[in-house]
Amino acid sequence: MLCKALRNKMVKIALLAAMAVSVAAAPMLQMYLTPAAHAASSLEELQQKQEEIKQQQEETKAKLESLKADQAQQEEYKNTLDQQLYNVKQEKYVIQERIDSLDAQIREKQTQIEGRQTEIDHNFDQLGQRIKAIYLAGETTTLEVLLHAGSATELMDNMEVVQSITEHDRQLIDRLQEAIASIKDEKAVIEASRDEVAAAKLELDKKQAEINALVEESNRVLAQLNANIEEENQHLHALDEQSAEAAAAVNQWFAQYYAQQGGSGNVVAAPSTGGWLWPAPGTYGITSTFYDSAGRPSAHGALDISSGGCYGNLIVATRAGTVMNAMPDPYGYGIYVMLDHGDGYVTIYGHMSSKIVSAGQYVSQGQTLGYIGSTGYSTGPHLHFEVRYYGRQVDPQQFVGY
Ligand SMILES: [Zn+2]
Repeated sequence: MLCKALRNKMVKIALLAAMAVSVAAAPMLQMYLTPAAHAASSLEELQQKQEEIKQQQEETKAKLESLKADQAQQEEYKNTLDQQLYNVKQEKYVIQERIDSLDAQIREKQTQIEGRQTEIDHNFDQLGQRIKAIYLAGETTTLEVLLHAGSATELMDNMEVVQSITEHDRQLIDRLQEAIASIKDEKAVIEASRDEVAAAKLELDKKQAEINALVEESNRVLAQLNANIEEENQHLHALDEQSAEAAAAVNQWFAQYYAQQGGSGNVVAAPSTGGWLWPAPGTYGITSTFYDSAGRPSAHGALDISSGGCYGNLIVATRAGTVMNAMPDPYGYGIYVMLDHGDGYVTIYGHMSSKIVSAGQYVSQGQTLGYIGSTGYSTGPHLHFEVRYYGRQVDPQQFVGY
């Protein structure tokens, strides 16, 4: 006698789901009763979401790396500019010193020129006095020419008319004129040199302005890069949080799935606590065991107990426990009882003709739960006896015998 419906995975998962739900969590039941297909697509969605976040994380990390590389490059470039700027400033400092020195030389030459000029003027005055005396009663025209001469140079130009000027005066003024010309030449050379240096300084000024503009631009680029990096860091931080949430959601899905899915054929060895009672006193035939013909845990995963004329025979609690909320049919068990033994073990008694305990009731070991029948997906009177350990089906024959 087979429990056909229990071979239906959908029904099974729904049942297992319900098993894991405590009496108090009854409102949750509906959620877990949804078909496995829905749960799978939900997991797929969760994992897809997780994958999407992972991809975004990788993209963001790549973007960040690229930005940081740009930042490092830009900083290196800016350091180069800073070094150039420092060099230019140093050059300008040296050049300014040179200019200052040349200016001092020029001022000195100017002072020298002015000194000679003063001497010339002095001599000119004296000469003028003498000429004036000489010509007091003489050629007034010549005297007027002389007196109207504005400078020693002009006077010298008119010298041919001044016959009475002594050779001494003439030589003195010549020497002074020559000295002035010589100093002026020297001054001109210094001034040319100063112009050159000043031009070089102007070039440096231009260069400094150019570098300053580049530094400014570099600072702007760096500020933008820093802002972008900050933005991507925040993005990454948000993604990390999303990733943790997505991972938690997937973990939770699996935690729920395993808690409710239980064995699903993958049976773990469960410790026997000993002292379990045979659940069907007087009925001692086994028509289906936990294992299939190949010796593997079967999809059925339970013990079917039957014997001729077993209909109406007693079904008792193998251990003391609390009657769990029964799910409505059609999950294949027909009228059934689920007992929670409080230590991870749950026992299920299916296909009863009737039951005499109700949800939430505490029953002692050996207490009658109901009677053998053939309700639900059953082909004849038998007891479907199932043992679960933390939701996983385990071999009932580890615990019960007769
Ligand atoms: Zn069965």
